[in-house]
Amino acid sequence: MSKTKERLLITFIVGIVLFYSFASVCAVGTNHISSVFYHKTSHDMCVEIGSIVLQCKKDPEITMVHKKDINNGQQEALFIVKNCVVSSRDCVAKIKSIESDADDRYHTKIHAAPDKQGLYVRITYDKQKYMVSCDTYYSIGLQPSMVFRVYNKKLLKKLQEHDDPLLRLASNDPPRIIIDCGHGGADAGAIGPSGVAEKTLALSLGLLLAKQLQERGYQILLTREDDRFLSLDQRTTLANNDDADLFVSLHANSAHNKQARGIETFCAIANLFKIVNAKLSNDQRMMRKNFVKKRYAQNSALAKLVQQSLIASAVIMQRDVKDRGVKHAAPQVLVGAMMPAVLVEVGFLSNEYEESFLLNKKYQEIIVKSLSYALDRYIKTFLK
Ligand SMILES: [Zn+2]
Repeated sequence: MSKTKERLLITFIVGIVLFYSFASVCAVGTNHISSVFYHKTSHDMCVEIGSIVLQCKKDPEITMVHKKDINNGQQEALFIVKNCVVSSRDCVAKIKSIESDADDRYHTKIHAAPDKQGLYVRITYDKQKYMVSCDTYYSIGLQPSMVFRVYNKKLLKKLQEHDDPLLRLASNDPPRIIIDCGHGGADAGAIGPSGVAEKTLALSLGLLLAKQLQERGYQILLTREDDRFLSLDQRTTLANNDDADLFVSLHANSAHNKQARGIETFCAIANLFKIVNAKLSNDQRMMRKNFVKKRYAQNSALAKLVQQSLIASAVIMQRDVKDRGVKHAAPQVLVGAMMPAVLVEVGFLSNEYEESFLLNKKYQEIIVKSLSYALDRYIKTFLK
């Protein structure tokens, strides 16, 4: 190779190395939105009329830019998520669908801030009727998340004096329970060594549970009654719009460690959520605090009853069943639910021994019976 060619080649290689180093330095500071969820309630009897959840790759740096009056009694709350971008096609599409939602109570716009400073989240609403707050939290798997909530101010105020865990001014008679059969359609969930899919098991358990609870006199709703895909926010939107009194999501676990097994129940609690300064008045801050506390207060009691009942029954067949306990966490499906809600992991499909129990009809019946007993006891103790 001639000297000139050699020099050219070296310059070319050095150029490439410099370009990639520069690009990676720039990328270090950038946060990316990884998932977007939109929970909403179409009627006005719900305290939280809508919530937008943005999950990202790194802890979000979020502040309120302003809260200002615009025209016709409308107020605009503008937040900035610093150094954050939306690059995934799915997230862009979801944001478009949120922005084009024809709800005349509030409007949302999520777009890049000027000079690539980050991402703007802009919510406009009637300031007489609604207020907006934002919390950060870690969703399950330590996924950094933020939730923007739009509250019905009148109801929020009324519920400050009203000591009801349902956070509604009227409840159903008989109580209405929504059973969420995890996964479905293209989303199979975990797959056991025998090839059974979590979505199939969740559906069988859900249908059995519905029957048991109907026999106890409850109104039952299922998020799905066949093998179909439903997003997590569609599930809670269904529960909120149908005014369910209780929400139970059914799942089976999976782990890389094939030895892992046992039963666990998840529930969200208030202190998982950290408020972002949204320039609320003292009065509004108190109302929001009181609401969040009440909203999640009963979840632990419900989860404890469910977990204890499941273990006490499972042990009849699986003598050495492992009690993994109640876990305080915020799976996405629980964040949007406006009623006491739990997510149950009935066992590990990835563990061959536990899978054999989960596929056993008799064991399924035992599990379902204990769940129906726990939900019935919870309603009779706390909701009556
Ligand atoms: Zn699952």
